Amino acid sequence: MRGQATLFEGSNRLVYDDAIELTLQSMQAYGPSHDHWGIAWSGGKDSTATLTLIVHLIDTGRLQPPKSLTVFYADTRQELLPLAISAERIMQQMAERGIRCEVVCAPLDKRFLVYILDRGVPPPNNNTLRWCTRQIKVDPMTQALADRIDELDGNILMITGVRQGESAIRDGRIAMSCGKDGAECGQGWYQQVLPEAKGIRGRIATLAPLLHWRVCNVWDWLKIYAPLPEYGGWATATVADAYGGDEAEEINARTGCTGCPLTENDKALDTVIASPKWSYLAPLKRLKQIYRELRKPHNRLRKAGIEVLKSGRVAANPQRMGPLTFSARLWALGEILSIQAEVNSAARALGRPEIDLINAEEEARIRELIAAETWPQGWDGDEPTADTPIDTVYADGSVQPLFI
Ligand code: SF4
Repeated sequence: MRGQATLFEGSNRLVYDDAIELTLQSMQAYGPSHDHWGIAWSGGKDSTATLTLIVHLIDTGRLQPPKSLTVFYADTRQELLPLAISAERIMQQMAERGIRCEVVCAPLDKRFLVYILDRGVPPPNNNTLRWCTRQIKVDPMTQALADRIDELDGNILMITGVRQGESAIRDGRIAMSCGKDGAECGQGWYQQVLPEAKGIRGRIATLAPLLHWRVCNVWDWLKIYAPLPEYGGWATATVADAYGGDEAEEINARTGCTGCPLTENDKALDTVIASPKWSYLAPLKRLKQIYRELRKPHNRLRKAGIEVLKSGRVAANPQRMGPLTFSARLWALGEILSIQAEVNSAARALGRPEIDLINAEEEARIRELIAAETWPQGWDGDEPTADTPIDTVYADGSVQPLFI
C-alpha cells in the first residue's frame, strides 16, 4: 500500500493494493460456501484490520454478503485502555450499520484477576502454568460460538486476524502459537483450537484472510485508508496510535493483556504511557511487579511430599509449588485496587478516561472466596508455604533429609 500516489483511479473506483486484492480473492473463494460468517475480534491491530476491511468490502459490493455476520469481541477485562476505547467506538459504528456484535467475556470466576485472587491460582507463566489464553479468550469464544451456531442452520466460517507475513508463508513456517513477533495473543489459538472445540466440531471452519499481510499493510489500512469515508470512515487510527503510531512500524508491536506476565517487558504499555495524553496510566507498570512477587515461594504453598492424585496415580512433580496464600492474595488485591484508585483520581483531575481493573462485583467475589478459605482443586490449605525448609522428596519416592 505504501507509496501509492492516489487513492482513486479517475472515477470513484477504490484502489486496493496486492495485499487487499489477495484478501478479497481469499474471501471470494471460501466465503460463498458458508451461509454464516463470524469474525473473532480482539480489538488489536490485526483483527481490527480484518473486521473493518471485510465490512468495507461488503459495503462497497466487492464481496457478496453472507446470510448472517456476527462479530465476536473478546473482552478479557485486561485490555489496554486506548484499545478498549477504540473497540467501543468501532462497536458503535457497527451498531449504526446494523451489524450484530457480541461482547464475549469469561464468566466471573474465570476472569484473569478474579481467578488469581479468589482461589489463589498463581499468575500464568511461559512454562507449566499457561492457563490464561484458553481460559479468558478461547473458552469464552468457543462458548459464544456454540451458542450462536445453535441459533443458525448450517455451518459458520470464522474469520480470524491471524497474520504471518509473506516470508513465513513462503517458508512454510505458519506456526499457530499464541502471540509471537507482533501477533495478538490468542489469535493463533482461535485458528487452531476453535475448529476442534467440543460442541462446535464439524460446524465451523476458520479462515485468516490477512495471513499474508505484512505489518506495514496493517498500519496503512488502520491509519490511512480505513478512516477515510470512502473506505468506511472507521475509528481505527486510535488503534494504530495505541501501538505507538509511526514508531510501531519499526517495533512490530504486540499487545495483549495490560501487564501480561508472560512477556519480559511491557512494550505496549510503555508505548502508550510515553504519549502525554496517556501518561497518567503509568502506575499500571506496577502490575507486572505484583505478578512477579506473587510467584515467589513465600507467597505460595508447596506439596510436602509424594502426592497421590484422585486417579490413584502419583503426581510426577513432588513438592510442586502451588496456590497463593490468603495474605498474598489480600496484599495483591490491595495493591491493584490502589493502582486503580491512583490512575482514576489522575484521570478525573485531567478529564481523561478511567480504568476498570477490578469492579465492585469482582472485588466482592474475591473477598467472598478468600473469606470462605477457597483453594484450587487438589489443595486444602494445610500444606507448608513454599519457603519452608523440608526434606527433598524425589519422584521415585526416595527422600533426601534436610540437614540443619
Ligand atoms: S496477553 Fe498474556 S496474560 Fe493475556 S491471555 Fe495472552 S499470554 Fe495470557
